[in-house]
Amino acid sequence: MTDSVAPRKRILTGDRPTGRLHLGHYVGSLAKRVELQYQYDTILIIADLHMLTTRPSRDDIAEICENCRGLVLDYLAAGIDPDHVTIYLQSAVPETYELNLIFEMLVTVNRLSRIPSIKDMARAANLSDEEIPFGLLGYPVLQAADILLPRAHLVPVGKDNESHVELTREIARRFNALYGEVFPIPEVLVGDVPTLVGTDGKDKMSKSLGNCIFLCDDEQTVNKKVRGMFTDPKRISADIPGTVEGNPVFIYHDTFNPNKAEVEELKARYRAGRVGDVEVKEKLARALNNFLAPMRARYAKYQADTGLVDEIIVRGTQRMRAIAAETIHAVRSAMGLASTWNRLQRAAERRQKKLHPTLPTGDLS
Ligand code: ATP
Ligand code: MG
Repeated sequence: MTDSVAPRKRILTGDRPTGRLHLGHYVGSLAKRVELQYQYDTILIIADLHMLTTRPSRDDIAEICENCRGLVLDYLAAGIDPDHVTIYLQSAVPETYELNLIFEMLVTVNRLSRIPSIKDMARAANLSDEEIPFGLLGYPVLQAADILLPRAHLVPVGKDNESHVELTREIARRFNALYGEVFPIPEVLVGDVPTLVGTDGKDKMSKSLGNCIFLCDDEQTVNKKVRGMFTDPKRISADIPGTVEGNPVFIYHDTFNPNKAEVEELKARYRAGRVGDVEVKEKLARALNNFLAPMRARYAKYQADTGLVDEIIVRGTQRMRAIAAETIHAVRSAMGLASTWNRLQRAAERRQKKLHPTLPTGDLS
């Protein structure tokens, strides 16, 4: 890159290593990452510390390694190019913890208590209000540390994470106002389908709800899941006119079936009571399997390369550690924390020098 070319802007986003990625993850965030990976310096975080907010047991932690491997395979299958994208393990970058603590001073408990997703996450983890850990309340602060550690400009996430990026913007502004311009104010980028419904018709496809089609599901599994999908419950036979709006089968057709003429024709017949669920679902299953086919080919290719995903994570984490060190240096300098330490060190050295003039300098550092 020559000096005249401006450095690429940066993306930061990622996932918790709690299981495999599903179609909701894909349309909410992953598709944008794939689309923008050559335009932006893209960094993907495997957010294992975020998993600890609701699942801190040793058994949970023991699963992280295998889940990381599955997650990275899902990225590669979805079309992430490992030669261009940095993928790192959050807990292996200690500056994350440091920036998190500094940001905790810049946000009120009241502000965090108003973020709706915290309550949703607590509910999903079967925690009552009294049982919400401090770390779960602070989840969006840790996310701000993740986004601002690489000083990212753009954050592609699903709708449920939009309010967290808003908080990140507030923290970045507050830091810059207090200590000087260190952080860009990142923009959020919500995917084409902000929240994909589950196969059961519930608001959100979600691992914890068991209503997912996974990117790694094989053809038979997809066919079976689609056959069991929730449709218009009022329609007990094929000759009853059905509702298309809000019907998950048609939401998926609109999202994943590129044959728009087929979808419109099915909708017209569905509304008129002239098509059975079986045909609508068979055509959806075919569209989904076509959509997943190139991913299946990439799974086969990458899975055969033993150790590849591990190498990708290690390489990415090393790069991220270097980036994080630069940011923390800038943070400590801007805040004056670095100069406090330097002054103490220099004074201590002066005293030692006076007491032991023959000692080489730097022994106390
Ligand atoms: P799940 O919510 O399925 O248990 P998760 O909580 O482990 O998955 P997150 O880390 O919350 O996954 O999500 C990773 C990214 O995918 C986020 O940007 C999130 O907004 C997005 N996402 C997750 N589920 C959906 C969905 N159903 N529709 C759109 N985006 C989604
Ligand atoms: Mg979630």
